[in-house]
Amino acid sequence: MTGNRLSARAGRVPQSEIRRIFNLAVTMKDVIHLEIGEPDFFTPVHVLDAADVAARQGWTKYAPSLGDPELRAAVAEKVERENGIKADPKTEVIITCGGMSAIASAVMALVDDGDEVMLPDPGWANYLGHVLMAGGNPVYVPLKEEKGFALDPETVRAKITPKTKLIIVNSPSNPTGGITPPDSLAEVTRICAGAGVYVISDEVYEKLVFEGRHYSPASDPAVRDWVITVNSFSKTYSMTGWRVGYAVAAQPVIAGMMRLQEQMIACPSSVSQRAGLAALRGPQQCVTEMREQYRRRRDIVVEGFNRIPGFSCQKPPATFYAFPSIKSFGIPSMEFAMTLLEKTGVATVPGRAFGPSGEGYLRISFATSEKSIEEGLRRIEKAVSSGALESKR
Ligand code: PLP
Repeated sequence: MTGNRLSARAGRVPQSEIRRIFNLAVTMKDVIHLEIGEPDFFTPVHVLDAADVAARQGWTKYAPSLGDPELRAAVAEKVERENGIKADPKTEVIITCGGMSAIASAVMALVDDGDEVMLPDPGWANYLGHVLMAGGNPVYVPLKEEKGFALDPETVRAKITPKTKLIIVNSPSNPTGGITPPDSLAEVTRICAGAGVYVISDEVYEKLVFEGRHYSPASDPAVRDWVITVNSFSKTYSMTGWRVGYAVAAQPVIAGMMRLQEQMIACPSSVSQRAGLAALRGPQQCVTEMREQYRRRRDIVVEGFNRIPGFSCQKPPATFYAFPSIKSFGIPSMEFAMTLLEKTGVATVPGRAFGPSGEGYLRISFATSEKSIEEGLRRIEKAVSSGALESKR
């Protein structure tokens, strides 16, 4: 028998548009990678050492479904100390395979067929996949450049319908590097909680803030039970490949997520969880050092793009992403990014990959060396001045 008998679920989940760029980039030589959303630093040595010791001590077996109890305790201490969130480590914390599986399990635990889920637009592309996987209907909440790509409480309020189940918020944001001011985020959460709408707060970039302040919506006890706080070791400690993250939420939500996690992955890797424990409990100087390097690179990127005629680039207050506007070129962002890659060997991500409001922008990752960033800028500047990026219309 031939044919395709895949589930409708698998068919619904779109393939990432970013892949088109990757697929071309891997066939080319001498590519400057400004598209990759992962830190270029090594995992801190004390974390590597702790994992080495843990593996030799036998942390190589299955862990409890909710995760290593010691790591859960460390997470509960961390979120109380740093985020103002009180959580019982026995029932209100789950360790996951990165922020990715925390968000996927939370969406699967909360969303039924036909439920509406509000998503930031532009926003991290995987949110859309998670919602479609769960059978939900995505509802975009546009973020405006002139408002620093912050979430606007009134726009959120206007999008709520009787079918709305959930909103995903992400401050600091991938792809824009924007922060939603604490007052606005608190207001969004109050509006949602008041309407019986859950809030997943994706805080994986919380430590990469250069200006402004990170705010965790679950720190407000009045709304705490409506908020699922997601975090990860990936970006903070340069631990993307260890696949360890966590979520903090009310007991029934964590219990639902745990049931799903048990079926999908059993538990996250035991040795990675020991590495996570060392990261949380160990010295934090590595985090500050990485942030300072990102800050320097950010300044080079912003200054560099604003110097090239046609680009305009806001200074992102956080993350390792800039989101320059390419609107004045009059070229769709996918075509722009493909042309840039073909003509200059510089890989970037088209803003369109992050939702309809991302059209007219490029996402630039500065999780790469200053030397690569400078070379990328030089090539783009040359391509623009030679007319390679002029609209053909
Ligand atoms: N959330 C956002 C906004 C991200 O950009 C990413 C990774 O790029 C993640 C979550 C998930 O990262 P991980 O699963 O490695 O923790």
